Amino acid sequence: MPAAVLEQAQHEFLDWNGRGLSMLEIPFTGDEFKGIMHRAQGNLRALLKVPDNYRILFMHGGASAQFSLVPLNLLGNAKCADYLESGYWSWRALTEARRYCTISVAGSSRDSDFDRVPSQDELHLDPGTAYCHYTSNETANGVQFHYVPDSGEVPLVADMTSDFLSQPLDISRYGMIYASSQKNIGPAGFTVVIVREDLFGRAHPATPVVFDYRLQSDANSLLNTPVTFSVYLADLVFQWLAEMGGVAAMEQNSLRRSRQLYQAIDGSGGFYRCPVQPLQRSRVSICFTLADAMLTQLFLSKAAQHGLINLKGHKMTGGIRASIYNAMPDEGVTVLTAFMRQFAEDHASHV
Ligand SMILES: *Cc1c(COP(=O)(O)O)cnc(C)c1O
Repeated sequence: MPAAVLEQAQHEFLDWNGRGLSMLEIPFTGDEFKGIMHRAQGNLRALLKVPDNYRILFMHGGASAQFSLVPLNLLGNAKCADYLESGYWSWRALTEARRYCTISVAGSSRDSDFDRVPSQDELHLDPGTAYCHYTSNETANGVQFHYVPDSGEVPLVADMTSDFLSQPLDISRYGMIYASSQKNIGPAGFTVVIVREDLFGRAHPATPVVFDYRLQSDANSLLNTPVTFSVYLADLVFQWLAEMGGVAAMEQNSLRRSRQLYQAIDGSGGFYRCPVQPLQRSRVSICFTLADAMLTQLFLSKAAQHGLINLKGHKMTGGIRASIYNAMPDEGVTVLTAFMRQFAEDHASHV
């Protein structure tokens, strides 16, 4: 979370907007909260230049719920969907979707242990499927799509949970995008869904009402009680992002910060190692290992002593992971790279 946003929230915590009430006490049904919801959606629309024929929803259940809600809402009469497999989260998405339809893995980098994403020319896309799903950034594996897959007439669906708002997007390339709020937006609690209007009306009849994209869109995401405090915080983050120069500035930040980290890894003489192919590396999830894996635990505890926390790699992949979401300042990266150099020097015999 950006420090400026936390300070503003603290300042307003007991008395929001001069109302003598906390934001936590404002009913979601009143005009005040409706105004916040409206403004948050409008600010997000402006940040990403979302075209008019796309609706923005704030939903419950996180990205994991979308793994089911995408097939439930988008399959219509179709019996199959294409999925690109590029790491842990795309695997989770397609495994869940298998409960609803036939999945065709239209491209996978599993053979090379997800050290890259599938490239456009190796995709076997089926023009008859309901949609084509991919995961734009894999937090566990440290790979990121640096191109937008071309799925032709088939609607492209992207799980952008971990690189949302970290770069400009051409929304018109997508049928739908989703992202849970706790990574690049900040506060945990809701999931952004940006969906093209013509995809409404395909929901399976058994789709729960609160998870039906069209019904939530018609209700402006107020069909049931939203996570009001998170939506309020997210709106402050959207305003902060705009002040900081928007997504174009965030892209420059993540390019600069990730380069600095990869240089520290590649320049360590083999002490640290990033398993991902250089052109496929993530600009937000920087994953690396130590040549001597026995040192990983020591690295983590020494780092924590320097205030460098939450660096443990994903449970599936192990190693170290630095998540540099939008609110991570340059200093965070500079302190980490300095620590990495010192640690490598101190344990130079372990290469
Ligand atoms: C973290 C993450 C998820 C899981 O999000 P939840 O909101 O916890 O369900 C899904 N997809 C991607 C790409 C992620 O990074």
